[in-house]
Amino acid sequence: MSAAQLEKQEFQAEVRQILDIVIHSLYTDKEIFIRELISNASDALEKMRLVQLTETADGKIFEADRELEINISTDETAKTITISDHGIGMTREELKENLGTIAHSGTKAFLEAMKESGKEGADVIGQFGVGFYSSFMVAERVEVYTHSWREDGEHLKWESDGDGGYSIEEAPGQHRGCRIVVHLKDEEFAQAGRVRGIIERYSNFVAFPVNLNGERINTMEALWLKPKAEISEEDYKGFYQFIGHAGDDPRYTMHFSADAPLAINALVFVPGENMERFGMGPQPAGVALYCHKVLIDQHPEGLLPEWLRFLKGVIDSEDLPLNISRESMQDSALVRKLGAVITKRFLKHLEKQAKEDPAAYREFFSRFGRFIREGVVSSPEYQESLAGLLRFQSSMTDGEELTSLDEYVDRAKEEQEEIYYLVGPSREALEKGPHFEAFHARGLEVAFFTEAVDDYVLEVLREYKGKKLVSADRAGIELEDVPADGEGLSEEETGELVQWLNKSLGDRVEKVEAGKRLVNHPVAALLPENAPNAQMRAMMAAMGQELPEAKAILEINPRHALVVQLEALRKSDSDLAGKLARQLTDNALLAAGLDKDPAAAASGMNELLEALLKR
Ligand code: ADP
Ligand code: MG
Repeated sequence: MSAAQLEKQEFQAEVRQILDIVIHSLYTDKEIFIRELISNASDALEKMRLVQLTETADGKIFEADRELEINISTDETAKTITISDHGIGMTREELKENLGTIAHSGTKAFLEAMKESGKEGADVIGQFGVGFYSSFMVAERVEVYTHSWREDGEHLKWESDGDGGYSIEEAPGQHRGCRIVVHLKDEEFAQAGRVRGIIERYSNFVAFPVNLNGERINTMEALWLKPKAEISEEDYKGFYQFIGHAGDDPRYTMHFSADAPLAINALVFVPGENMERFGMGPQPAGVALYCHKVLIDQHPEGLLPEWLRFLKGVIDSEDLPLNISRESMQDSALVRKLGAVITKRFLKHLEKQAKEDPAAYREFFSRFGRFIREGVVSSPEYQESLAGLLRFQSSMTDGEELTSLDEYVDRAKEEQEEIYYLVGPSREALEKGPHFEAFHARGLEVAFFTEAVDDYVLEVLREYKGKKLVSADRAGIELEDVPADGEGLSEEETGELVQWLNKSLGDRVEKVEAGKRLVNHPVAALLPENAPNAQMRAMMAAMGQELPEAKAILEINPRHALVVQLEALRKSDSDLAGKLARQLTDNALLAAGLDKDPAAAASGMNELLEALLKR
């Protein structure tokens, strides 16, 4: 062979990093490389089947009559395992692109997750879509012999020892598809018995014949087309693990078929873990689209709403045209209808699960709740169902227990038109804050939301089953009077104090009002009804947006001892009373998250203390 024929290439930096981890870490489940290579062969055959059905021009397909099957052979003496398929194969450019680079964004997060996940690292690799490289866990060297399905493709051999780069050269006499020869470090995976066990686990879910050393292993049925009664839990689990490149159990399994309005067979799983929690960035859609067992699109964008991208599985509909292209998928009414049917079914399924096993649903919600929230914001058509699936603590729940909006509505008095909520860092903080006590004193339930995005989510939601969602830190909430202990200020005194405060606080606040909602707090800063709340303001500030001036309304509690004393002090030492009033206000603004300058509040406190000591 002349040197000119051999093309040497460096791996892209990200690939080198991945290979470095794969080669030098001691993952326990190395055997998954077989699943990953079978999965790739199966993908290539699926794509070939679609090509055969859609590319009708004669002579375009290389070796058009090759069987669509996967052949695996082992050689203990040579220490090799070989996986061949007659799928679409690869051209030179495709070899470089597919086996030398990673197009994914979020590779860095992936690498972190790999490093951290230790034993599970091998799973992460398949789920991130870099399964091919898992062969280097066991390989000294990997050879890929290939010819593309395109008639004018080259006969090629790709080779690498996983250390920095790879080479490509011409290798005459290839059949259509790929033949991958893994030269093993030790002979474990060259033993026919060992390999057979592994293939049996996954190959039943491959839609093409899988042969080991010439012997057929699988029975090849599309699991999603089988009647439910004939499928075991083990089958579901195996199928989930195969298509999801996963090692865990599916959290929820939804399998159904329908004839109208569309013919649908769907098998959909909620995975055990939410991979995005590890900072991996948005994952591609995980439910593949089939038309009568022919894979149309592995990651169909626009079939299901984006917030369902965590689902894994298969949707098969005979009503779809085979040659539907990626572009036309997005705006096909049929695809939209299909997506809507599945989405509704899935939401129903979640509702049912939540009812039947609340503890398991809670687990689900803690991992996947962010997708539910995302859905509330982005899919108005499913908003109410999604809102019903939210879980949170409230002033009526104990300890760690969670509740739902439906339960809130059930508990509330019939004439209560609102659902009150507060968003903050923790339940404890919200319970101690100035806004909760007014509701508590009146026996009104307050829902506690503790995710920063909840503010936004609830604002978008606005109402649930006809009840308005109202943040308990807003001004303008009408509450009934409650009897309070002790003497307060008279109406006249209150009026005078409010007037004086309005003058002496200047433009620190929008205005001062006397109110009935406070119990144990002297004053509270309330948000004007239409102003963006504290979290929203923080978010807008983070995004560099200009903040609208939102001055608080200061509510004073005329029954509070401090306020009563303030009124007396105003008459005897109005200077000191002014300092005290300003400090009370600053504290309240700070507590409500409305003050930009905690340092100024602290220095005001010093001034006040000084004045008090001088008296
Ligand atoms: P993924 O399968 O998630 O895309 P992999 O690392 O497993 O990631 O494979 C990378 C790419 O290499 C595949 O997307 C495919 O384009 C190509 N490839 C791998 N194996 C084969 C094969 N047997 N036939 C054709 N193409 C293949
Ligand atoms: Mg793969």
